[in-house]
Amino acid sequence: MSGVSRSQARQTAVTTASSRQIRQFQRPTKSDGTALPISEYFGSHTFGWNLMSQRLPPADVAILREAPPSKRRLTKELADKVAFAVKEWAIAKGATHYCHWFHPQTGTTAEKHDAFFSFNSDGASIERFTGVELMQQEPDASSFPSGGLRTTFEARGYTAWDATSPMFLMSTVNGLTLCIPSIFISYSGESLDEKTPLLRSIATVSEAAQEAMHLLGENSLKFIVSNCGAEQEYFVVDRAFHDLRPDLVQSGRTVLGRVPPKHQQLSDHYFGSIKPRILNFMMECEHELYKLGVPCKTRHNEVAPSQCEAAPIFEFANIAADHNQLVMSVIKTVARRHDLTALFHEKPYANMNGSGKHLNWSLSTNQGKNLLDPGQKPQENIRFLYFLTATIKAVHDWSSLLRSSVASAGNDFRLGAHEAPPAIMSVFLGATLTDILERLGSGEEISTPESEINLDLARIPIIARDNTDRNRTSPFAFTGNKFEFRAVGSNQSISRPLAFLNAAVAQALSEMNESLKAKAGSNNPTEKHIYEVINETYAAVKKVCFEGDGYSEEWHAEAERRGLPNLKNTPEALSALLDPKNRDMLVKRGIFNKEEELEGRYNVLIEQYCMLKLIELETQEDMVSTQIIPAVLQHLQQYTNALQGMEQVLGKVSNTQKQSYESISKLLDSLVTKKNKLSNFLEQAGGVEDQAKLGAMLAEEGASLMAQITADCNELEGLVDDQLWPLPKYRELIYSL
Ligand code: ADP
Ligand code: MG
Repeated sequence: MSGVSRSQARQTAVTTASSRQIRQFQRPTKSDGTALPISEYFGSHTFGWNLMSQRLPPADVAILREAPPSKRRLTKELADKVAFAVKEWAIAKGATHYCHWFHPQTGTTAEKHDAFFSFNSDGASIERFTGVELMQQEPDASSFPSGGLRTTFEARGYTAWDATSPMFLMSTVNGLTLCIPSIFISYSGESLDEKTPLLRSIATVSEAAQEAMHLLGENSLKFIVSNCGAEQEYFVVDRAFHDLRPDLVQSGRTVLGRVPPKHQQLSDHYFGSIKPRILNFMMECEHELYKLGVPCKTRHNEVAPSQCEAAPIFEFANIAADHNQLVMSVIKTVARRHDLTALFHEKPYANMNGSGKHLNWSLSTNQGKNLLDPGQKPQENIRFLYFLTATIKAVHDWSSLLRSSVASAGNDFRLGAHEAPPAIMSVFLGATLTDILERLGSGEEISTPESEINLDLARIPIIARDNTDRNRTSPFAFTGNKFEFRAVGSNQSISRPLAFLNAAVAQALSEMNESLKAKAGSNNPTEKHIYEVINETYAAVKKVCFEGDGYSEEWHAEAERRGLPNLKNTPEALSALLDPKNRDMLVKRGIFNKEEELEGRYNVLIEQYCMLKLIELETQEDMVSTQIIPAVLQHLQQYTNALQGMEQVLGKVSNTQKQSYESISKLLDSLVTKKNKLSNFLEQAGGVEDQAKLGAMLAEEGASLMAQITADCNELEGLVDDQLWPLPKYRELIYSL
């Protein structure tokens, strides 16, 4: 029977997964065999500032290190020197090739490798790498998404070296490749990537923040930095199971699957002791990332079984964005070495926690002073209050833009589900800061909470208390000395959310700066002027602040009363990119050169959404037709044989037995009917050219059809003989490690 072989494959996977050996990797050691401290090999595969300083004259390094306000061009002469130095270093390490490593609008990275190997003018073979090659490459750009900014016959695109992010060596068992972080633009100069807008946003927020600092009386600053620490959540699953699930292979999520009796409800996985196989895998990931200069700090189990999190020490936003790509890529690669597959989808399993990527964001001075640090007395910290209010204003004024920056097919399953913030953008401040902002300038005494918790127990330390509690239900929460943009999806590049956030804060700061100048009639406002601007701004935007339960129904109603946008799905959220108000701001702030660039982004994203939804639906259709229906038929056949046997032996079949048979048969009917509906729907969808229309169709009718089919399949999964069920079940996927 063919069903036996399918179920056998599942049984074999169970045996394979349960008998895995833990993989050991070679830790770097000292001569006495003990492990080398991380600090001694951290960044060994990056061409960082220390190496630059060792190999280049100080004046050249100083030029390379000049920060955002500087618009000094990189010269060919300087690039030649860097190219020579980095080539010598990379080849000494064993590298043979180099590539421009860039971020097209696919959410991931791209690279085209070239060998250092070349011929000199005498025809002799040599290793060569020039400044021009370092600075610029011209990959064929025709197959990258551009959103109609260009047609396929206009194939030229350029990648250009981003000297603000260190070059690194990507290693595989058979060699190393020098990767050069780069931007990617079209022949006519439009950005085709995620990095260019991010770099522009970093420059614009630096400018606006610096102006604010001048107005607040600080003139000694060189520049302002935007920082980011991205907490990465993901799932791991044994490869043997993963490979038997067409839905995981094709779409990164299960399109059907019955939730087992025990999943995450006992809260025993969150921060639980990490299972040895997973811990060893995490250690190898971190080891690879340390070599690449990624400052991994935290690792832990997340809420759902087999869900993990990794968080780095925060960095300059552009480097954080590059590093987050490396984190995802290394996790994927190392997972395979451990016979695991890492799932970055926002919702691989229904009814369990999904994965997000909290973007911890702050602004600091070039001397490293955090502008969002409230200090001991936030009520007297005028600079903090100014930047805090500007950030609230940014979320209030540009909420739809921020919402659009986290819109994706995967994140739609998560935003508004039980573990993630809703699609309504709001800001959580905590009781203390809310109180301060509410009563600022009223003359009332404002007190902050006791800064200590004393349990009065011997040998238990006194605990330092934060100014705010946490609120996990808020999409944008103040968490001590930074904001945490929690609505970001686990699978996406962090560049766009960061770019839009920086742009929004820059715009809010500029508007506050203008009010301040207008009030003062000069560039020297008094403290009174500053407090007035903070008060007036807060009063105008405070409706975006919400301290309650963001998951509750009441909040949805309340948000509607307050007039806050609730863009429920990706097509709705993406339309914010077409809103003239949003476009004007992004163009004015230089994030995009012209409005068409934004239209291009919209086209890429909506098309991506449609393709992903179609892949999911087609995968489900295929699985139902070729795996689920045959399994149910076999089960019914088995049942028929048993009923016939009963009749022979007992002379009759009880009604209860017949009813059981009938209920399965009815479910099968229902499933086949819905599957046919899905097939018709897919045929119809295939004829829809207009992507916005198609997107809306997929988000509404498509999603509803899929959910109905999933429900039937899941019910059947609970009835059909386990031995005949062809797909690894949730309990196997999440508990096999
Ligand atoms: P959580 O708040 O989720 O418990 P942490 O407080 O450890 O976690 O911080 C999470 C992330 O926030 C880390 O990546 C950390 O480096 C980053 N982070 C901490 N301070 C800042 C800051 N001032 N700006 C940006 N990111 C920060
Ligand atoms: Mg966290």
